[in-house]
Amino acid sequence: MTRAEKQTYDVIVIGGGVTGAGTARDCALRGLRVLLLERGDYNHGASGRNHGLMHSGARYAVTDPESARECVEENAILRRIASHCIESTDGLFVTLPDDDLSYQSTFVKACRQAGIKTEILTPSLTLLLEPSLNPQVQGAVRVPDASIDPFALTQANLVDARLHGAVTLCYHEVTSLLVNGGRVEGVQTLNKRTGESIDYHAAVTINAAGIWGANLLRSAGIEVQMFPAKGTMLIYAKRVNNMVLNRCRKPSNGDILVPDGSVSVMGTTSDRIAMDTIDDLRVTEAEVRLLVSEGEKLVPALKQNRLLRAFAGVRPLIALDDDPEGRSISRGIVCLDHASRDGMEGLITISGGKLITYRKMAEQATDLACRKLGVEASCTTATTPLPGSEEKKSARDVFSPSHKSNAAKRHGTRANQIPSDSPQDRTLICECEHVSVGEVKYAIEQMNAHDLVDLLRRTRLGMGQCQSKSCACRTANLLAQLTGYPTRALRDLATLLDERWKGIKPIAWGQTLRETQLTAEIYQGLCGLDKAINDRKEEQP
Ligand SMILES: Cc1cc2nc3c(=O)[nH]c(=O)nc-3n(C[C@H](O)[C@H](O)[C@H](O)COP(=O)(O)OP(=O)(O)OC[C@H]3O[C@@H](n4cnc5c(N)ncnc54)[C@H](O)[C@@H]3O)c2cc1C
Repeated sequence: MTRAEKQTYDVIVIGGGVTGAGTARDCALRGLRVLLLERGDYNHGASGRNHGLMHSGARYAVTDPESARECVEENAILRRIASHCIESTDGLFVTLPDDDLSYQSTFVKACRQAGIKTEILTPSLTLLLEPSLNPQVQGAVRVPDASIDPFALTQANLVDARLHGAVTLCYHEVTSLLVNGGRVEGVQTLNKRTGESIDYHAAVTINAAGIWGANLLRSAGIEVQMFPAKGTMLIYAKRVNNMVLNRCRKPSNGDILVPDGSVSVMGTTSDRIAMDTIDDLRVTEAEVRLLVSEGEKLVPALKQNRLLRAFAGVRPLIALDDDPEGRSISRGIVCLDHASRDGMEGLITISGGKLITYRKMAEQATDLACRKLGVEASCTTATTPLPGSEEKKSARDVFSPSHKSNAAKRHGTRANQIPSDSPQDRTLICECEHVSVGEVKYAIEQMNAHDLVDLLRRTRLGMGQCQSKSCACRTANLLAQLTGYPTRALRDLATLLDERWKGIKPIAWGQTLRETQLTAEIYQGLCGLDKAINDRKEEQP
């Protein structure tokens, strides 16, 4: 095969968030030759910066029934195809003394119309189910919400895409669309690791670049009105709730607490921000104050719970052509055929929606791509389990040692491919999240992890209570040995610690600040990280 043939595909997917990963998988399952390009690491955008709530649709039932219906359908499908990524917690929509109890009946009626199962609970039954709740709770409605791991979900889609022949490249930025006579014929890319620029060609290009897609389209003379909506969330060090907790009121700031493994995640805010700030998100003091105060109203025990970190993401919301100002902007799916909309053949945009509607988004984009390519192949992603979720039995029950059962939460049944024969492979390298040396090897060999931050997104290494304090240097050393780049270890270590610090800075007080000072003392004071990096600069590859 010549180099030019190698670079020609049926479909190019731009963006390695959950939508791009799901689209690449769907294309590959339908027999298309597909290339996925991601400018950073996978899940670098909103897909790695969200609440991890598997909506039942109830949150949108009153205000956005179309989104509610999309959520309820996809919720049922994901339980079948992505069981290893989901913790079936159920959710409560609770009425607190500040809320209007009469909203409950409006809410329940709207849920029923959207096909969402509801059960109205008395305050005493609510507290029996969820003892952490504010004891003054006035009532609650139980719905099939759940907690979902967005990192595991995207990775499972990528793994399956590759198993079906897709090529997926991270750290490859699409710098422009190749336009020729009213047709997009491919993309120009920059390999961010090597600096090499390469053109790839395809009959169809699918823009799944989230909020960044608007700028990409503009480079081809196409205008799409996108509304970047920033959301901030806080992670508490200890999990306090068993079920997803929502306030039973019109969606507002700071009204959801999601249990996520060993932590609880409080969120979120929603603020329109300027397009030129989407790459420079900062969590503000006002956002932290609001989330802390609303969280403590919901679960008073949060007052005694240490904050681990704060983070923010941008929702890729898109205005419909008949509503360019975005007055009634929906969280529904938007799939644009730029041939009929803008006279530009070979280009599709898929955006809007939610994490949990990614599969349906992928299906719509792939259906359109197939029509353009003249391919008759139907979608099978609603019935084909993702790698890791093939077996009905919960993957967590299959493995007994703690590192294996924790790995099973992240990789499902594929955790049995993690090396564990030697004592070294079984050794825990991150005690907080129970990540073994073998899992690090697996992430490097099977999941394209190149550096410490990549490892964090694939294994949760460094995401736990100590925020990398204990595991970072050991893993940097291991990574350097495994990848054969010893001089990179220091730079990787510094990058990981900087990345962790970004999330700690907005909430650095009390115990969290003390822990951070200890980390800084160990790495800068005792180990002299900055000095070591400067001394090694000459040697960097
Ligand atoms: C604060 C917040 C909370 C949320 N909570 C939930 C929730 O609880 N449940 C839920 O279902 N949904 C939630 N969402 C929505 C959900 O996260 C998003 O709808 C979903 O992740 C979007 O995925 P995506 O793949 O379309 O976009 P993204 O994940 O943003 O992916 C786009 C990707 O394209 C890449 N890219 C951009 N430009 C280029 C280029 N030129 N070349 C190559 N690659 C490029 C980016 O790096 C990025 O990785 C939340 C969103 C936010 C912001």
